[in-house]
Amino acid sequence: MHAGLPDAEDGQPIAPGPVLAAPYHLAGDVEGAAHGGYGRYGNPTTERLEAAIGVLEGGRVLAFASGMAATTAALLPLVAAGDVLVVCADGYPGIRKLVADHLPHARTEVRLVPTITEEIIAACPGAALVWVETPSNPGLDVCDLRAVAAAAHEAGARLIVDNTLATPLGQTPLTLGADLVVAAATKALAGHSDVLLGYTATRDEALHARLRAWRDTTGAIPGPFEAWLVHRSLATLNLRLERSSANALALAEALRRHPGVNDVRHPATHAVARAQMRRFGPLVCFTLDDAAAAQAFLNAARLVTEATSFGGVHTTAERRGRWGTDAVAEGFIRLSAGIEDTEDLVADVLAALDVTGQTTGPP
Ligand SMILES: *Cc1c(COP(=O)(O)O)cnc(C)c1O
Repeated sequence: MHAGLPDAEDGQPIAPGPVLAAPYHLAGDVEGAAHGGYGRYGNPTTERLEAAIGVLEGGRVLAFASGMAATTAALLPLVAAGDVLVVCADGYPGIRKLVADHLPHARTEVRLVPTITEEIIAACPGAALVWVETPSNPGLDVCDLRAVAAAAHEAGARLIVDNTLATPLGQTPLTLGADLVVAAATKALAGHSDVLLGYTATRDEALHARLRAWRDTTGAIPGPFEAWLVHRSLATLNLRLERSSANALALAEALRRHPGVNDVRHPATHAVARAQMRRFGPLVCFTLDDAAAAQAFLNAARLVTEATSFGGVHTTAERRGRWGTDAVAEGFIRLSAGIEDTEDLVADVLAALDVTGQTTGPP
């Protein structure tokens, strides 16, 4: 609610608007110039947002133009020729595409592992960098961050955690041993489906400085208006997550009771998630008979908007297999619960399942 906002001062706005600036007034010596003297090096609106997210993640934050811009910053400057990378096989496809298409010049070895604590740990020896996403997306599997951090550090590797799904109100990887957090604020953190922005967070000053140098040079900064939108959205993050997490849980329970729905996935089914997470986030995934049944469900549900992405205030869902990037069944649906009334949403989803003929069991 209050993080990153300026102290009270008579006549000043409670919620300051975005500061639009390219160069700043800068006379004489450039050493120690406020905001670096230029908009690519610093912006007061972005700095306020970074301070606010830093309070939540428990580290120093840098904002980027998108989640993938933050992902790129966390990967490219940190990987050297010959490095071994451990990357989750069932996480956001963008990270796999980045290492497959844009790292070969560094002759890296990439070990793709599923989001299973023991398998990640087994892949750590010899690695320089371990990249995990928990809960994974779209499978919603969970790994034990403390155990993975210990194994990565024993191997001399850095642990990077994509914290997009959980948000820092759901879990704080830096407090569990991660060296670096990367996230797309685009999803639940901003939560209104109207802005892209990413960030990194770390307690390691040298790492922070390296990522800042990367951003200063590559220019992967967010615009001040986008930073302002995200900061404004932070005030309702807890309220939104409270409702969307409750909605996702209620849907998971209702879907599990439905005889025509298979493989209902929700982080709360994992004991380690119950220990590690304060909120489970808005996602619930399930599988219908085939692509046609999944599409019929999406067409029939009135409160569920068919769209990719997740974490918005409106409930959205998609047949994840349509992208061809994830190892999922044709009838696999990823649903992101919004903040609609819980009873309305559950009733709408159950009614849509009836329309699709997903009633193979008793009515
Ligand atoms: C969406 C997403 C990203 C990328 O974020 P963009 O803002 O779309 O670039 C990275 N990681 C995860 C887990 C995501 O869901």
